[in-house]
Amino acid sequence: MTQVFKFGGASIQDAAAIRRLGKLLARFPARPLIVVVSAMGKTTNALEALLAEARNGKTADYHDRLETLRRDHLSTVETLFGAKAGPVAERVEALVNELDQLHRQHASRDRPFHYDQTVGFGELLSTTIVSAWLHEAGMATAWRDARELVVTDDCHQAANIDWETTAKRVRGLAADDGRIRVTQGFIGSTSEGVMTTLGREGSDFSAAILAHCLEAEEVTIWKDVPGLFNADPRRFDNAVQLERISYDEAVELAWHGAKVIHPKTLGPLQQKSIPLTVRSFEDLEAPPSTIGRDTRFDTQTPSLVLRDEQTLLEIRPRDFAFMDEPRQHDILGRLVEAGLHANLIDAGAMRLSLCLDGHPERLEPLITSLCTDYAVVRHEDLTLLTIRHADDALLAALSSGRDSLAERGNADTAQRLFPSTQCQGTWHIPG
Ligand code: ASP
Ligand code: MG
Repeated sequence: MTQVFKFGGASIQDAAAIRRLGKLLARFPARPLIVVVSAMGKTTNALEALLAEARNGKTADYHDRLETLRRDHLSTVETLFGAKAGPVAERVEALVNELDQLHRQHASRDRPFHYDQTVGFGELLSTTIVSAWLHEAGMATAWRDARELVVTDDCHQAANIDWETTAKRVRGLAADDGRIRVTQGFIGSTSEGVMTTLGREGSDFSAAILAHCLEAEEVTIWKDVPGLFNADPRRFDNAVQLERISYDEAVELAWHGAKVIHPKTLGPLQQKSIPLTVRSFEDLEAPPSTIGRDTRFDTQTPSLVLRDEQTLLEIRPRDFAFMDEPRQHDILGRLVEAGLHANLIDAGAMRLSLCLDGHPERLEPLITSLCTDYAVVRHEDLTLLTIRHADDALLAALSSGRDSLAERGNADTAQRLFPSTQCQGTWHIPG
């Protein structure tokens, strides 16, 4: 059965990391194996900066960045291959030159199109090096161009998958010849062969697309953390790892703001019941986390998510009238028009409260529009705590000493909105 492995930028950030990747893969002899790779380290950010400089007419800065990109990739190649670097260095040079040429050719196009012809090269470069290194390390390998596999529409920077055509193209990818297929995350192409990208962090989605089309046994996302946690370990001193959660639970956590796996990635896997495992590339013995069909473990451990920089709007009809459905409809319609999403909605007889992310450029027009028909009170600098599967004691402990400005709860999710000043420092989850 086919396995799909995805490696992010941190797992291939330099020569030492790529060597470690080779050693890791040598421990997984089962085939077919598809390896999906992101751009090295922070290359995607560097390419975005390069694009911005070129589009702002800063030609010299564009040039510096292009040469830095070339130098960094070539130096990785030299460290890895030493005297044998020649042929790989040539391929890297050719890709950087092609990037430069495509970038110039499309300079007058709209930004999303131009972005895709430029930024997508990070993955072409990384997979060229990784694939050559695996071959050098003695593993039978085949580099595959994701632009020939993943077919999309021309919605540049957020391309939508043409599932039917992609499935046909991907079919041969898991050929039983013992070779590891190395391909790029994040990129695809239109049916005319124009390069597209799937959105930032799109490599996880690429792995899911291939797994879906191949009906793979499992997708493994290799990370610098052992797996998924019930709370952000940077904010909570006693976060614990979630070893098993269901697709539904993972989507709930992501919806409430947890940095788990993007729902877009889970969809194609959920449809084919393909489990997704998150595992540490630094510690192969560490127990991983798996997202799958099984819902039995979802309620065992409460999960906590904090969302900062929240604004609460308390909206009331001006004429002592009810906040009835037509009024709610009107207010939510304006929210949609403003392109905003409410992280908490709570209705009373004469009040609708909305908790929103605090982007001022979108909030201000919404508030101005609401103020023409409603009385609006706004509270800023808030932190929204969402707890899945909390009991009363946990909720009480976490709320103690904090003033809740809004609350909401149902059978499995409780939310509390606190002033951010009361949410600083490390949180502790009482046992
Ligand atoms: N390289 C792309 C990014 O940094 C895609 C990915 O890493 O998932 O967003
Ligand atoms: Mg990534």
